[in-house]
Amino acid sequence: MIYLDHTATRLIDPEIIAVYAKLLAEANFNPAARYAPALEVKDKIKEAKKRLQEALGAQSFEPLVSSGATESINLALLGLADAYPQRAKRILTTDLEHSATRSALEKLAGRGYDIVTIPCRDGFIDLSALDEALLEPALALTLIHVQNEIGTVVNLEDAVALARARQKQILIHLDAVQAVTKIPFRADGLGVDLISLSGHKFGAPKGIGFLLVAPKVKLVAQIVGGGQQSGLRSGTENYPLLETSVQALERALTDLDQKSHFVLELREALVHALHDAGLDFHVLSGARQIPQILALEIPALRGETIMHALSELGICVSIGSACSSHKGSHDSLYRLYGLSRERARHVIRISINESNTMSEMEYLVQSLVKVVNMYKI
Ligand code: PLP
Repeated sequence: MIYLDHTATRLIDPEIIAVYAKLLAEANFNPAARYAPALEVKDKIKEAKKRLQEALGAQSFEPLVSSGATESINLALLGLADAYPQRAKRILTTDLEHSATRSALEKLAGRGYDIVTIPCRDGFIDLSALDEALLEPALALTLIHVQNEIGTVVNLEDAVALARARQKQILIHLDAVQAVTKIPFRADGLGVDLISLSGHKFGAPKGIGFLLVAPKVKLVAQIVGGGQQSGLRSGTENYPLLETSVQALERALTDLDQKSHFVLELREALVHALHDAGLDFHVLSGARQIPQILALEIPALRGETIMHALSELGICVSIGSACSSHKGSHDSLYRLYGLSRERARHVIRISINESNTMSEMEYLVQSLVKVVNMYKI
């Protein structure tokens, strides 16, 4: 199998699976219990969270562990709304957001919040539209850092600086799921209050995510129970999963520059080879782009046909994001990049990481040419 869908989920390294299995066998005590092995696990949770902070440059944030970024985003947005009922019922966002953010905001709209969507051009937040939206007070601004279907890096620094300059009190949430391990990332210094992250995007097992919370930011828990994690996210803490995730993150971050450079080489070789093979295609990209995501419009065939045909040949790619493809929402996203609804249906997303090879790129090119020639009407 040639796996080219690392944006949907990163496959887990065998060494990380071994770490998880060992910890499940040896350290699966309930950290709330009072006997020695459980107390040891409690200490180890603290130590793992410290290493997480170090890896993310997030010394000033409290890391909360959740079940994934969807939960983190829900906790951030619904938790802020519940914690600051006296503030303006207005939240600013962009049209590049993941469905987790959009759905949480829809829920808040149902509770009377005015949700203002700032348009983006070439994956960049329109700063004059943001400036205008900031004329009226808002509780929060929620932004995606790296867009998951096209791979554009938004102009985060400018948007944050503008929001802070216009409204001292505004709370800023960042969906950094696709940024961490793909671009250099340090939470401290970004100027945001809350950051959502997902473990399975950086090689941890599924079922774990993080919400980094800056000091003095209030949240109301959305999952209540035994009061774990300062009462902000109840539920028995899972040390084996946390430790495994921190090790997966540390591993993914090692030699990040070299890895990104190699991925860029693979991407460029792939695009050149597709041109050389005479394939008619168009690369969708923003003003600032990560190399790991390559969204290709192939006019000859629909993305869905290509995806299934490549799958038959042992290659995994996707159309739109794994989470939104069943809702068809990638149509509207691709329209932001100037594509009509029909053209949007011809897009496939190839996501590459450093585990891929040049020969896999060559096989992909041969396969794409074969598929297009076979199915073309
Ligand atoms: N945000 C972005 C940008 C994503 O790509 C994803 C996953 O596709 C999520 C949020 C949701 O993450 P999780 O799968 O951990 O719930």
